[in-house]
Amino acid sequence: MSAEKMEFKAELKQVMEIIVHSLYSHKEIFLRELISNAADAIGKIRFDALTDAELAEGDTDFQIKIIPDAAAKTLTISDNGCGMSRETLINDLGTIARSGTKAFLEKMKQAKSENVDLIGQFGVGFYSAFMVADKVEVVTRAPRQTAATKWTSAGEDSFTVEAAERDKRGTTIVLHLRDDESEFAETWRLRSLVQKFSDFIEYPVVLVTDEKKRDKDGKETDEIEHKEDIVNSRQAIWLRAKSEVKDEEYAEFYKHISHDFDAPLKTIPYAAEGAQEFKALMFVPARRPSDFFMREQRRGLQLYVNRVFIAEECDKLLPPYFSFVRGVVDSSDLPLNVSREMLQEDRQLHKIRKALVSRLFATFKEMLEKEHATYLKFWEQFGVMLKSGLMGDFENRESILDLLLYPSTRASEENKLVTLAQYVEAMPAGQEEIYYMIAENRPMVENSPYMEYFRERGYEVLIMTDPVDETVVAATPEYQGKKLKAIDRGELAAKDETPAAEKEQREKDHQDLLAFIKETLGDEIAETRLSARLKSSPLCLIGEEGQIGAQMERLLRELGQAAPERKLVLEINPDHAAIAALRSKLSADKNAATEDLRLLFDGAVIASGGKIKDPAAFLQRAAKLVAGA
Ligand code: ADP
Repeated sequence: MSAEKMEFKAELKQVMEIIVHSLYSHKEIFLRELISNAADAIGKIRFDALTDAELAEGDTDFQIKIIPDAAAKTLTISDNGCGMSRETLINDLGTIARSGTKAFLEKMKQAKSENVDLIGQFGVGFYSAFMVADKVEVVTRAPRQTAATKWTSAGEDSFTVEAAERDKRGTTIVLHLRDDESEFAETWRLRSLVQKFSDFIEYPVVLVTDEKKRDKDGKETDEIEHKEDIVNSRQAIWLRAKSEVKDEEYAEFYKHISHDFDAPLKTIPYAAEGAQEFKALMFVPARRPSDFFMREQRRGLQLYVNRVFIAEECDKLLPPYFSFVRGVVDSSDLPLNVSREMLQEDRQLHKIRKALVSRLFATFKEMLEKEHATYLKFWEQFGVMLKSGLMGDFENRESILDLLLYPSTRASEENKLVTLAQYVEAMPAGQEEIYYMIAENRPMVENSPYMEYFRERGYEVLIMTDPVDETVVAATPEYQGKKLKAIDRGELAAKDETPAAEKEQREKDHQDLLAFIKETLGDEIAETRLSARLKSSPLCLIGEEGQIGAQMERLLRELGQAAPERKLVLEINPDHAAIAALRSKLSADKNAATEDLRLLFDGAVIASGGKIKDPAAFLQRAAKLVAGA
């Protein structure tokens, strides 16, 4: 049978185009990607053979061979993993573009040219071979099959597939190196790359060389010596004592499992002893990965049982809000033949998860207290994830709340952030609640009429500008026994120090004005009342307790969703000159008073972060006022 020619899926053509023509640095990562694929393939057959021993066909001496040939300018990477059937081969290396492929292309368009780490992140690692090779051949054979298949491509638009021979199950990849990439056929270069990137790979990475023997004086002879060296130490880094591992080693391991190019922000080795015995090694990345907000991002930790790899992304080990944490867990309590389905409900796993979660919380808390600068970096990248955890995880609510940071009206420096605990600690005598305001930005809070009351009393107000803050407060009725309260919603439970008689008189004096306001604004407000909170502003709009805020309302509208109707209470300041003027105008000229009221009301809507109905009319009224008409 002759070779059949096939076209790459359109997206893959573009991937190849980018790989071949725009990535110039860090080309060496192709080796890491191919070794990692080989290790995955071995892990797969090894795992499947746990339940079906015959599948391994007696070939359980698992290894990955690296065979350079400087004369032929080739590099061969061979494994005895699960191999691929003809159909899988065609699908996986050519015709099916996975969701990551499109995302990769989009990211590459945005990213600064040299972002090779995206290759691994988006699952297009195999194609990185074309950074160094102008032709790649793959010969592969699946278990229980006698036929093998050969795939060949020069990395442009197409590839060919034909029948081939391979004496056993597994995959062999031959890279025909580009002229200027011959260094990847050099033994020393390959050795150092394997040590750097793949030292901890569980299976032996064997460097196979046929080199001319040297005589006593170091001169080459004609005799060829065949050597097979295991290059990687295969030490499971997570089993080693923390004191014995160098930071760089941790960092390399992190880069290997995360496909990140930067060192982690925090490394968290963990050896649990006692009832639950397991070892874990967790990492907090320094930055959000580029696919962070995509649904199909990689998440979860790798799971091992007694050093045998079980699952790549075990999302049962951590709650979704910790999905940014990378790492491995190695347990000696789980059965080795645990199936993927069993993992779903295993009780042991649940206990491990609990221990990991509390370890993470303890780490973050310590970081917050002792490594504040590092914590701020962490917060900037992943704070939003912690906040999202408040919605589902009631058990850990306090722990999450302890980690939140907010700017506040008290903090003199613009960007200083406070914890809720610091806020509570600084509350002056007489303050019973934690005050906050959700707004677009800091000045909108600081200059809002709502602030007057709080500023006067020296009460700090937390400034919340993140869209998820609305859900944070909805999920947090109180912290340390103190209720959270929006300063622009609900009636103030403040002590009104005005004597009763005086209050009554004031109500009476303003009866007509309040009736007029209600009549004029009608449905636009829920009610109107005299304010206990205003000092220098004439009036303001207050939401009802438990209602969504203006910020959320706008967000919902922008998303094209129906926002629940928000009825606001209009509070007026009887001590303000504008309100006094409105009152006297009302008895003289009701039409003029109506115009003035609309002008003031629109101003209050704007100050509350809302949108006014008729901005043109607002401008006309303001213009008239300025003209003195
Ligand atoms: P990823 O490994 O992230 O899935 P790759 O582009 O590196 O993406 O590989 C694509 C697919 O090709 C893999 O998912 C796997 O199914 C298959 N594959 C690659 N290399 C091997 C190998 N050595 N043995 C078996 N299958 C492989």
